[in-house]
Amino acid sequence: MKEGDRVRARLVLKTLESKFKVPSISKVAGDPFKVLVRTIISQSTAEINTRRAYENLSKKVALTPKGLAEADIKEIEEALFVAGLYRNKSRIIKTVSETILKDLGGSLDFIYSDPLEEAREKLLRLPGVGPKTADILLLFCAGKPVLPVDTHVNRVSKRLGFVPEKAGYEEVRKTLESLYTPKEYFKVHMLFISLGRKFCRALNPKHAECPVRHLCPSKT
Ligand code: SF4
Repeated sequence: MKEGDRVRARLVLKTLESKFKVPSISKVAGDPFKVLVRTIISQSTAEINTRRAYENLSKKVALTPKGLAEADIKEIEEALFVAGLYRNKSRIIKTVSETILKDLGGSLDFIYSDPLEEAREKLLRLPGVGPKTADILLLFCAGKPVLPVDTHVNRVSKRLGFVPEKAGYEEVRKTLESLYTPKEYFKVHMLFISLGRKFCRALNPKHAECPVRHLCPSKT
C-alpha cells in the first residue's frame, strides 16, 4: 500500500456515498442458501437476467438444498435459460445442493456460528463456491468482517491504485479490508460496484464524468 492511500480511500468513500445510494443490507441478505443460488446464477450475467432466472427457478422448485438436489436438472435448466451459461450453472446448483444435504445436514447455518476462517473454509470446499461467493455469504448473511471482491470491485481497486494490477483475490480483499473498517465493508462493496457499473466500466471507462476522477491515478 502506498503512502496517502488511507487518506485517498477515505475521500473516495465519502465522494461515492454522496453520489450513489447504498441498499440496506437486509435487502440483499436473507437465507444463505438462497443467496448462494442467486450468486451462482449471477456469475457473468446482467442483474436483470439474474433476477428473471432466479424468479423462474423459485416458481418451479423449492429453493432449499433438498428441493434442488431432488429436482430434475432439465427443470433447473429451463428456469435458468435466460441467464448465461445456464447448463453449467444448473449442474453446479444441483451438485452443491446435494453436497450441502449430504455433508452439512442440509443447512448453511454454520456460517452464523462458526468462526470466520472455519466458516470460510467450509464454504470453499463446496463445489462451485469460490472466494467471492463465500465472502458474499459471510458478509451479507452472517455480517462477518470480510469484503467480497467481485469483478467491479477488483477493477475499480486497481484503477484507483490501491492494489497492483497483478494482485490476486486475496491481496485485493486484504488491502481493502485494511483501508476500511469492518462496518464500512458492505458499503464499500456496493459503492465500488456502482462506480464500476456507471463510470469505471471495463471498456470505455467514463473518466471525464467520474465522481472520483480527482482522486484517481488512472484518469487519463
Ligand atoms: S477516473 Fe476513470 S479509472 Fe479512475 S475510477 Fe474513475 S472511471 Fe475509473
